[in-house]
Amino acid sequence: MFLVRNGEKQVNECSPLPSIAVHGLTGCAGELLVILENLEKLIPYVWVSSFPFAQSRNDDDDRPVDIAFIEGSVSQPHDLARLMKIRAQARWLVAVGNCAVWGCVQRGGCRKEPVDSMLTATYGADSPIQALPSTPLDQHVRVDVKLSGCPINSTQLLAVTASLLRDHLPYITSKPVCLECKLRENACVLIENNLPCLGPITAGGCGALCPTYGAACYGCWGPSEEPQMEAMATILQEKGYALDEVMGRLFAFGAPDELFDRVKRSVPQA
Ligand code: SF4
Ligand code: SF4
Repeated sequence: MFLVRNGEKQVNECSPLPSIAVHGLTGCAGELLVILENLEKLIPYVWVSSFPFAQSRNDDDDRPVDIAFIEGSVSQPHDLARLMKIRAQARWLVAVGNCAVWGCVQRGGCRKEPVDSMLTATYGADSPIQALPSTPLDQHVRVDVKLSGCPINSTQLLAVTASLLRDHLPYITSKPVCLECKLRENACVLIENNLPCLGPITAGGCGALCPTYGAACYGCWGPSEEPQMEAMATILQEKGYALDEVMGRLFAFGAPDELFDRVKRSVPQA
């Protein structure tokens, strides 16, 4: 692997190893912690050019890098400026975590209340603090790999990194949590215990963590591929659940509005 800038191969003068950078925009730093926990496994294969969360010597954002991992959503003007700079210099850009992939709770929280009125209510009308409606990275730049999770799964992180280090884009599926749940031979908490499990419409990757311990999935990895919103709404309604409250959990984690609009069209009282 090598640095590529404007189509030209460049040598990394600091190390013969491929370089990675780990950045955080607006988020809780959960993914940064997962990457930090796994850094020992990565260190033999990569040069960490920037990881302000973990080290004090860091290259500037405008230095070329092979793989840039970015956590967090774009929620402040300086997030957007950094994202553009990092994208311009990164060969591969990996969005890590639900905030970067879907916008997560920042985006969910902005649905009912405009960001400006929340800013005023929190900091007062004269505050110099600025904020943007929270958005995922791919609304602003090309994202090469989306690794969802809240937080991400370590095994997926290492597999994605290994694949990119071989110069291959990894194959990531967003099959529903139910698939992993069945592979673990769990009893279905939706069918057997009547719990409001969102596993059928939530992307897997966590190994069906919550249902494995008898709890309902609340959608923290974001929506699955082609989520069957209407069927999920019908099942929850048959079980007597308020759709706004239960399906709203998926939206609290940043799922796009159009999915909820589908539910409203199929079930007008939702
Ligand atoms: S418990 Fe939830 S995730 Fe598991 S099979 Fe049932 S609905 Fe799907
Ligand atoms: S809420 Fe759903 S997606 Fe999140 S960890 Fe639990 S089972 Fe997995």
